Amino acid sequence: MKIFTIIFAIVLLKLNSTAQSLSTNKVLRVNIHFMLRTNGTGNFTETSDGDGRTWYNGYNYANELINQMNARNNRNDPMNIPTGNSTPVLTKNFHYVLDAVYFTRDDATFNYGNGDSYYSSNGADKNNVLNIVLDYCPANDISCASSGHASDLSSNSKYKCTENQSYWQNYVIQRNSSNPFGWFIDATAVNTNHELGHLLGLYHTVQWCGWCVNDACDDDCFDTPTAWEIMSANGCIKHPACGWNKDGVLDCSNNIMDYTNGFALTPCQLTKIHTGLVGGMKTYLVCDAVSYNLTLNDIGYPKLSYFGKDVIIGNSGSLANVTNEEKIKLYFSSTIELNNFEVRSDSEFEVIKESTCTF
Ligand SMILES: [Zn+2]
Repeated sequence: MKIFTIIFAIVLLKLNSTAQSLSTNKVLRVNIHFMLRTNGTGNFTETSDGDGRTWYNGYNYANELINQMNARNNRNDPMNIPTGNSTPVLTKNFHYVLDAVYFTRDDATFNYGNGDSYYSSNGADKNNVLNIVLDYCPANDISCASSGHASDLSSNSKYKCTENQSYWQNYVIQRNSSNPFGWFIDATAVNTNHELGHLLGLYHTVQWCGWCVNDACDDDCFDTPTAWEIMSANGCIKHPACGWNKDGVLDCSNNIMDYTNGFALTPCQLTKIHTGLVGGMKTYLVCDAVSYNLTLNDIGYPKLSYFGKDVIIGNSGSLANVTNEEKIKLYFSSTIELNNFEVRSDSEFEVIKESTCTF
């Protein structure tokens, strides 16, 4: 009887901690790496869009991309498959903050396919920041789709990199079209959210599963049906991995992990993400980053965000300044001390109070 009570109490505790975990918003740090040719072409730069415009640059794009990814994470929809399912639609409660932006000029790493080796030797803050590498579609095909892959799904891994191609190429096409401010940002946000979904532990729910075969292709989530379940019910006339713009179509998955531009993540998927974030991936969270003290002599690019508990910036011997249109954010949880510190009028310095992790 006692043993039963203890087990029951442990189960309740686990349920409570999962529920608490899902209800707490978590913000992950990400780096963006723009890969350029040795001669500095083929991607956004520090001062231009790489296509002749100086009013838009890599920092603008990186910020816009993260903002759009977060906007998409503010919405969740019911899964389209199976039709009429009653799976609850939970608030996602996870977002991203841009930690740093890097520009690398090297023909050896410019093309898609070199991102993983680049990350191995040049990944930044690997233990606590997810690294996003943006490089060139080597097929040199102007219609190359924005796409990517992710390194490691385990929440116990610190090998967290996603390589994505053709973002800039598609930006150039879009910017020079009759609809220069159209779909581009949202399309790349969809792709990046999908790849980061992998880094947070998610598999495809039906994408890449066989045509009408019970091939045990599953994502280990009870509330996402398999491709086989959908196809065997519809007489094998349609595979649920329908792709782009098929959100409202019968038997088509609108799950983020199936390469659609849908918004759906199920309770099982969200539980996987949040469980990983309070476990092995906790170091990637802002609330963890602001639990350590930070002392710096100066701040600025390539880092856009700084994190600390008790923060000291600058010293009496040298000037710490924010210049050259830099937009810097400082997240802190306890105190900030600025010494001999200056923010020039063409720049921005924003201070944000954060709480340390409560889980
Ligand atoms: Zn994928």
